Amino acid sequence: MSNAQHSLDGLVEALRRLPGVGQKSAQRMAYHLLQHDRDGARQLSRALGQAADHILHCQRCHTFTETPVCSICLDETRDASLLCVLESPADQAALERTGSYRGYYFVLMGRVSPLDGIGAQDIGVAQLLERAADGKVEEVILATSFTAEGEATAHVLSQALKARGLRATRLARGVPVGSELEYVDLGTIAHALVDRR
Ligand SMILES: [Zn+2]
Repeated sequence: MSNAQHSLDGLVEALRRLPGVGQKSAQRMAYHLLQHDRDGARQLSRALGQAADHILHCQRCHTFTETPVCSICLDETRDASLLCVLESPADQAALERTGSYRGYYFVLMGRVSPLDGIGAQDIGVAQLLERAADGKVEEVILATSFTAEGEATAHVLSQALKARGLRATRLARGVPVGSELEYVDLGTIAHALVDRR
């Protein structure tokens, strides 16, 4: 095998690591970058290296951050009695953009998915229980998605929190069934937050 072929195969294999990208799409991306956009390829390579080396999980809320504790967790003007639990940093960004929530966050590492063998322990329930038991949190708002897995996750978390004597609420109706929070419009999220129960 020539060296060029070796590099090309390596690139295709690396691109296939992206979610939803199969062999054909990976090849198309590789050819595109090499034929039409070498600068883009170098930029992508630098950005990936930079992000992989420098982005951490916040010690308190688990979201992405470049410092040990993220800027939201460090913001002492926020309401320490509220802790909102989300499935991803993307969902957190969506809720933050509504400007209607002033409490703190906890970002799970995904959601419960029995079919994929992902249970409560895999998404960080122990860390959540520890965070919620800081003596200041009075209400844990479960803002997982309105998909079957998101609902199952909310149920598991609600049971675990209530067993520890913590109050758990759920984002209200208004968010369409089957929705990922990230794709729901901001007004709907804001209303669901106000109407939580
Ligand atoms: Zn944080």
